[in-house]
Amino acid sequence: MNYTRLAKLVLRSALNSPVRTTKPLPVFRHSYRLIKTSTARMSSESSSSVEDSTDAVNQGPIDRREFKAETRQLLDIVAKSLYSEKEVFIRELISNASDALEKLRHHQVNGVTIDDFSKSPLEIRITTDSQTGTITIQDFGTGMSKEDMVENLGTIARSGTKAFLSEIEDEKSSSSNSLIGQFGVGFYSTFMVADKVKVNSRSFETGSQGYTWSSDGSGLYEISEASHETRGTKIVVQLKADELRFADRDTVEGIVKKYSNFVGFPIFLNGEQINTIQPLWTQDPKAITTKQHEEFYQFISNAFDKPRYTLHFVADAPLSIRSLFYVPEQLPEMYGVRVLEPGVSLYSRRVLIQSKARDILPEWLRFVRGVIDSEDIPLNLSRELLQQSALIQKLRSVLSSKLIRFLADEAKRDRKKYEKFFAECGIFLREGIVSASDDAEREEIAKLFRFESSFERPGVTTSLSEYVSRMKPGQKNIYYLCLPTRELAETSPYYEPLLAQGHEVLFSYDQFDDTVLAQLRSFNEKPVLSAESYLSKSEEEGEVKDGSLPSDEADSLVKWLTRTLGYHRVKEVKVSRRLSSHPTMLTVSDMVSARRFLRAIRPEERGKILQPTLEVNPSHTIIKRLATLKDEDTKLAVLVAEQLYDNALIAAGLMDDPRRMLGRLDSLVESVVREQEK
Ligand code: ADP
Ligand code: MG
Repeated sequence: MNYTRLAKLVLRSALNSPVRTTKPLPVFRHSYRLIKTSTARMSSESSSSVEDSTDAVNQGPIDRREFKAETRQLLDIVAKSLYSEKEVFIRELISNASDALEKLRHHQVNGVTIDDFSKSPLEIRITTDSQTGTITIQDFGTGMSKEDMVENLGTIARSGTKAFLSEIEDEKSSSSNSLIGQFGVGFYSTFMVADKVKVNSRSFETGSQGYTWSSDGSGLYEISEASHETRGTKIVVQLKADELRFADRDTVEGIVKKYSNFVGFPIFLNGEQINTIQPLWTQDPKAITTKQHEEFYQFISNAFDKPRYTLHFVADAPLSIRSLFYVPEQLPEMYGVRVLEPGVSLYSRRVLIQSKARDILPEWLRFVRGVIDSEDIPLNLSRELLQQSALIQKLRSVLSSKLIRFLADEAKRDRKKYEKFFAECGIFLREGIVSASDDAEREEIAKLFRFESSFERPGVTTSLSEYVSRMKPGQKNIYYLCLPTRELAETSPYYEPLLAQGHEVLFSYDQFDDTVLAQLRSFNEKPVLSAESYLSKSEEEGEVKDGSLPSDEADSLVKWLTRTLGYHRVKEVKVSRRLSSHPTMLTVSDMVSARRFLRAIRPEERGKILQPTLEVNPSHTIIKRLATLKDEDTKLAVLVAEQLYDNALIAAGLMDDPRRMLGRLDSLVESVVREQEK
């Protein structure tokens, strides 16, 4: 398994530094400067005429107008490439075409008279012409009247965009930065690639006149009457010399498939329909077959396996959400191949906003593949930008808690299947706990964990909730022990006292659970404690066992051990009645950190820094013998004492280099062999 990432997170959390998830977008600061200079430059610019070269024949006088001030600002940002991905202009134009077609269909359903309804099909036609360096997008939707053109293409009437502009003036908001690149600025994005844009349009109202709007995106635009006969809109983009790739058919096909594959109207490119995949998430969940899910999953995630889990989640309030999530059967990260990219893409009304979106789900859920479509997410900046990041936050919290609840339900529905999931994908959930933003979220994720338990047979797993439901009255804590195998756990000195007290102990064999569960801190208001840290804090004692060392002898042994082991090894030695089969046990106040940072501390300083307490079991044969041996054969007694101490270190996971004790072990073995000779 690829644990490097989790290890980093775990280490960071151990060091208590906050986990950063968002990166500022450098391009944004750049665009801020552009705005400042552009306003000054714009006002001094003289008017330049816009030439005409498309097929619609212009008639009558040319109406030459200036863009409204904010529009000019926006155009200037756009022209100077706010986006690294200029190709989004195609997405924007297709979306507008699709919107216009949808509006038309809406009118038609509501009995509004529509010119030429049956004549012009509800479709979008794209043509590329590398000879003339143009790309043309045509639809047979509502079209625009002259007033519509002035209103919609010459002005930014919407307050959201103004808010956006003043926002960058202030250069305050950093939270919305990363969103800007994800949302287009609609129609104006065309000027990123165009020398000139020409819009021929005729409204759907009977007897309407066609118009041509054109602009080079500097300060002016022109409108004139045109003999544009068909209903709808045709936009001819005359590409800049260095953007001619957008006149290449194959390039455009790739872009359309990337962003607009699921648009609800047929899209033709140079006469051939190119969007063929059904947007499965918009369909009735009950009507979708497993086979369809399989195909769709494979299509969107470029995979060949099958989804392990499928969640089709639809909501209308508080947000409109159509989403489809898949948990893959195979994840490359499981095999340590690579860290997965997020796998969920964000759509707004079937148009791609962001592929493999980073902010839409928490990072630990990156093993989920799928799509999220929300009408509430604006495709461009024309809505309330200031609310956008809050909106994404909201969406993210709704979706992640939905996914967590879904997995919890799946665990109930099919336990075996879920256990396999947890065994294979548990690493992500562990990361979820470490990187969670608050305790409530941490606890929700913790519900998804499964452990073996001292109350269950090997192989049977249990959840924290099940543990809590079995807690005895008066039991305050949830106990766990994190060791590589069950055998080690069951023979651990730290397990013994809890077993004697009749407490259930969860066993985890994952190397990170130590830290992950320490991060969790509590579940259901019950402290979650490792057996080790519980024992270092608790004073609970067991019964005095028959045949124990008398207390005066025990006291004298304790004094001798304290002296013999010395302050560089132990802070304190004490008699403990909670041990039965183990001679000694070592406790330190924070075992997790002690293990983690052990190698960073020089051996001779460990006693001083870790301050361990060595508990000795007065009923154990070795201890009882040691009480007399210390006076009969001090040399051997010292060897035994030191070895007992090292054994306790091993049990505590605090022995980093066992080679150091080899010499002593040889001496001990030697004395055993000698003893046999006698
Ligand atoms: P938005 O789509 O968010 O409204 P745009 O900048 O993409 O913003 O488009 C501005 C407006 O121009 C649209 O709201 C619409 O009224 C009009 N418009 C753009 N393209 C078309 C089209 N193909 N058909 C009809 N109207 C259009
Ligand atoms: Mg638009």
